[in-house]
Amino acid sequence: MTILGAGLSGSLLSTLLSQGDYRVQLFEKRSDPRKSELEEGRSINLALSYRGWSALARAGLKERVRSRAIAMWGRMMHDERGNLSFQPYGTDDQAIYSVSRLGLNQLLIDEAEKAGAELFFEHRCEEIYLKQGKAIIHDLNEKESFLTEPDLLIGADGAFSTLRTAMQKTPRYNYSQSFIEHGYKELSIPAKNGEFALEPHALHIWPRGGYMLIALPNADKSFTCTLFLAYEGKESFAQLTSPTAVTHFFEKRFPDALAVMPGITEEFFQNPTSDLVTIKCYPWSRYGKNVLVGDAAHAIVPFYGQGMNAGFEDCRIFMDLLQEHGGDYEQMIYRFQDLRKPDADAVAELALHNFIEMRDLVADREFLERKKVEAELHHRFPDRWIPLYTMVTFTNIRYSEALRIGQQQDRIMRQVMKHYDYASELTDQDYERIVALLDNGE
Ligand SMILES: Cc1cc2nc3c(=O)[nH]c(=O)nc-3n(C[C@H](O)[C@H](O)[C@H](O)COP(=O)(O)OP(=O)(O)OC[C@H]3O[C@@H](n4cnc5c(N)ncnc54)[C@H](O)[C@@H]3O)c2cc1C
Repeated sequence: MTILGAGLSGSLLSTLLSQGDYRVQLFEKRSDPRKSELEEGRSINLALSYRGWSALARAGLKERVRSRAIAMWGRMMHDERGNLSFQPYGTDDQAIYSVSRLGLNQLLIDEAEKAGAELFFEHRCEEIYLKQGKAIIHDLNEKESFLTEPDLLIGADGAFSTLRTAMQKTPRYNYSQSFIEHGYKELSIPAKNGEFALEPHALHIWPRGGYMLIALPNADKSFTCTLFLAYEGKESFAQLTSPTAVTHFFEKRFPDALAVMPGITEEFFQNPTSDLVTIKCYPWSRYGKNVLVGDAAHAIVPFYGQGMNAGFEDCRIFMDLLQEHGGDYEQMIYRFQDLRKPDADAVAELALHNFIEMRDLVADREFLERKKVEAELHHRFPDRWIPLYTMVTFTNIRYSEALRIGQQQDRIMRQVMKHYDYASELTDQDYERIVALLDNGE
């Protein structure tokens, strides 16, 4: 099998396939990340949750990744005066984990190599002949191109996939990309006197209505922050054109963050402002000899922390189906796309919606009371009422199923919150009645 792209999905899938004794060639256009220093000097991290862990466990890598990850037990909210409030993500043993993107990618590439995959860095896939199942690979060092003809060509080559671009040129191919009006910029909070400057076991959020700042901890005791802000408008990147403007904006909106960001004005102008896109496409295979996985098939906005997790889940399900279908790759990939497409669409929708929740609702009193009611429902009826965030983040329930149940819960909770202002007003009977509504599909 030939895999395009040694990002997170491509390197995990190469590991799993090689462990299963498939012969794998992996082509990556960039240089070997194991030899590079931190990308542009910045550490970038990601939130890893249950779906990601399940796939890593399948490759026997859970413990090794866990030893490098930092548990975040909930959201730490910062208001404009610097007051803090903590909202746990779930029950006592439920956390999401901050991991270094580069560190995880290096580990997965190492594992793929150890398991027997052949790795080719600085090799870019340039062209694909879909019907023939062939691809042209260009060796960027030797400046030579050659043809590869695998049994199966797997496009794990990210949001702007070359394999998908080839599919887009075929008749009746469905494709959409939509950018949100916000961009993002990575900033940092360095360690202070050798220690974390903020509580390390939380995902920090500064929700400000139309925009927000977040921060995740790194193993070197710094935090990577991401500012999500509109490109245009009153408070937007377009307004932040000078160090003074940036400082004033942070003084007004994120004063406690500014106090621990000594390098902000340099970083703000050094680091790029990047776009946030949702990409949908179908089918994920053309003519049965190729298939898309990860962001190449379904790029989503990052607000549910699920992009990598969904890509890892693709890898786990890919392996399950491969086992089921033996050597019949064509049947296997059709099953794969049938199964995964509704889930990819569902997580795309969930991710867009969670932006509103993170930047806005988490500071809203009614929303917080509602969360308390839902937590109590889950506590009383752990199998009958699982909050949406829990289903997405702490289970392998299909995203499409989580979305469906979540919409039903939302309808019920809207009614409940019309009648009660505070969670403390609900009686035992009320909880029984609410869970019965969900059971009855109302
Ligand atoms: C700001 C931000 C925050 C995020 N936070 C989270 C988070 O907290 N949790 C989470 O789960 N997800 C998160 N994500 C999403 C996550 O980063 C992606 O879903 C994930 O990286 C996708 O992995 P991938 O391997 O499919 O694609 P990529 O990581 O994009 O890898 C694709 C690889 O293919 C290579 N490639 C491309 N074209 C070619 C070619 N023609 N030939 C050879 N190689 C090629 C690229 O160089 C790259 O290495 C975040 C995303 C963003 C933007």
